[in-house]
Amino acid sequence: MKIAMLARNANLYSHKRLVEAAKERGHSLDILNTLRCTMSITSHRPTVLYEGQTLTGYDAVIPRIGASITQYGLAVLRQFEMMGVWPLNESVAIGRSRDKLRSMQIFAKHGLGLPVTAFAHDPKQTEEVMKIVGGAPVVIKLTEGTQGIGVVLGETDKSAKSVIEAFRGVNVNILVQEFIKEAGSSDLRIFVVGGKVVASMMRTGAPDDFRSNLHRGGSAKSIKITPEERSTAVRAAKVMGLNVAGVDLLRANHGPVIMEVNSSPGLEGIENATGVKVADKIIEFIENNYQPGKTKTRGKG
Ligand code: ADP
Ligand code: MG
Repeated sequence: MKIAMLARNANLYSHKRLVEAAKERGHSLDILNTLRCTMSITSHRPTVLYEGQTLTGYDAVIPRIGASITQYGLAVLRQFEMMGVWPLNESVAIGRSRDKLRSMQIFAKHGLGLPVTAFAHDPKQTEEVMKIVGGAPVVIKLTEGTQGIGVVLGETDKSAKSVIEAFRGVNVNILVQEFIKEAGSSDLRIFVVGGKVVASMMRTGAPDDFRSNLHRGGSAKSIKITPEERSTAVRAAKVMGLNVAGVDLLRANHGPVIMEVNSSPGLEGIENATGVKVADKIIEFIENNYQPGKTKTRGKG
């Protein structure tokens, strides 16, 4: 196969591993810097230009689109989809998973476990939002944050209100969630490829942090998950429409609750913690599933 990978940094562990796994299995994989892809949006003949060349002949595209360039990255991916190149994860699915509020609504619609979550635009509704989630302690999140940045614990009603008001003041969208204290600064990262769990780890936050993100100093270990956790993760990936997903769950008293679903999950933490060659599983999945011109949504917005 001839595979393209949309990524900005060729030196990231995840990207190097995908290149290595593709080569080992006899495929070519070109890393294309997403921001250097130029689109020619012409009726009937959509193309992508890269360093002066029109791209052709790709069988599949692996989108590794950073959160800071979601909009442009998804436009480039849609262009590939319109050219008939099979995407590992579709643009529409990535778009859904990038918006925490939209994802939460979809999970709720499908009856998946979630922390009680509230959202309001009007600052006058702060009291109401706090009431919905049962008062402090609450977690306040930017709807488009990542790597634990923009996730704040409001320990008292007073501090929670000030945080909510501060975020509102800078005009960003936030959601407010009940704090799952019993998770004890740990979460589960369950790696789903093609509807199957291929690896799972438990991440635990640094001693003074309630956030378990590895980027925030958390540590990870391999873990055996329960059948309920497995089915929740698989269903979460499915309702997002993602073939490859890093599903994050918290162990709440009443069962697993979904934190978020990542469409470009990192490979370093999970491969090191579990010893599973996740990159190889991804390439194998592409081999078995790619089909020219077969995207469910064909680049629809
Ligand atoms: P990000 O996209 O920035 O990683 P998350 O929603 O995953 O944001 O939150 C980051 C971390 O904060 C989670 O991995 C979890 O450890 C902790 N966390 C987030 N929400 C809650 C919550 N409602 N209760 C307890 N811990 C939470
Ligand atoms: Mg997270």
